Amino acid sequence: MAQIRLKNISKRWNNFVGVDNFNLDIADREFLVLLGPSGCGKTTTMRMIAGLEDITEGEIWIGDRMVNKLEPKDRDISMVFQSYGLYPNMTVYENIRFPLKVRKVPQDQHHERVMKAAAMVELEPFLERRPAALSGGQRQRVALARAIVREPNAFLMDEPLSNLDAKLRVSTRAQIKNLHHTLKTTTIYVTHDQIEAMTLADRVVVMNKGLVQQVGTPMEIYDRPANTFVAGFIGSPAMNLVPGSVENGVFTAQGIRIEGLPSTTKGPVTLGFRAEDATLAQGQGQIEAPIYSVELLGEATMLSMRVAGELVSIKVAKDYRAEIGETAAIAIPAAACHLFDQSTGTRIG
Ligand code: ATP
Repeated sequence: MAQIRLKNISKRWNNFVGVDNFNLDIADREFLVLLGPSGCGKTTTMRMIAGLEDITEGEIWIGDRMVNKLEPKDRDISMVFQSYGLYPNMTVYENIRFPLKVRKVPQDQHHERVMKAAAMVELEPFLERRPAALSGGQRQRVALARAIVREPNAFLMDEPLSNLDAKLRVSTRAQIKNLHHTLKTTTIYVTHDQIEAMTLADRVVVMNKGLVQQVGTPMEIYDRPANTFVAGFIGSPAMNLVPGSVENGVFTAQGIRIEGLPSTTKGPVTLGFRAEDATLAQGQGQIEAPIYSVELLGEATMLSMRVAGELVSIKVAKDYRAEIGETAAIAIPAAACHLFDQSTGTRIG
């Protein structure tokens, strides 16, 4: 088990900054998710922790060792990748056993450890098969078992679910969550999928363009995004963001007026609110605008409306029906509103 400490980590290639001054303490047993769009620096951060990428600046500590100069094999961490990395000519059993052979774990422990790891990911029926005779989900479970069998200090997982179809992704995600509950091994998990991040993480690190945007629990990040990037990245749909201006606690933009905001700011701002915090107004609404589209989701109906040049999503009851072009009146409680600085995107209220 191990705490992992990243101290002022940067990665540069010539003038290009892949990761910029990343600082974080990852607690022993924590499940930490690095989340961000393609190219934001998540994989590079992970590869630096694994020792697969040199660090331009900073220090990485695993437990009480500074590991900057340690070879990947000496860092006592197991990695799981999206491309399972199995040996095609070995059986499932031999694939899972392989790390024990490499690490010269005494032979008499092998069988018990392989069977224990296989049981954790329900692979017992497939132990004599070769990877070619397995489904994608089964192959990823072999990769997980091979990581587990070593009983490492930490797991690093880089988009392990991205090659699986939607249904399998959900069940394998649950399996990873259950594994972490059982093993309690420190885990760093990279994904660009915010639902994976929300469901798996103890804490999420949201990254963009090499920079950490916010670190927090899934609910902190959802309820109080630090800036418009995080607000627009987390949630399905993401937070509605509407430009306008605020004065004396009143936000206005074309088709929208919200009173009672706590803001003491005056001038241009971006208003944020979530689709599920808006409701149909009984009388006059805070938003009055024509409906752009009506989508039936099953458990709810999603309206889109164009407000101040932006399409905003409003989640209403599943039996609500309306025609495109009709005007709808929407209520948004002031307490559910977020305000961001319009030029920097930083949260101001
Ligand atoms: P993805 O989700 O697409 O894997 P990512 O967030 O993991 O994206 P990284 O792979 O960490 O992103 O890459 C971060 C940035 O660094 C990208 O802009 C990438 O093009 C750049 N980069 C990565 N490796 C190198 C390299 N060897 N030389 C130069 N630039 C690189």
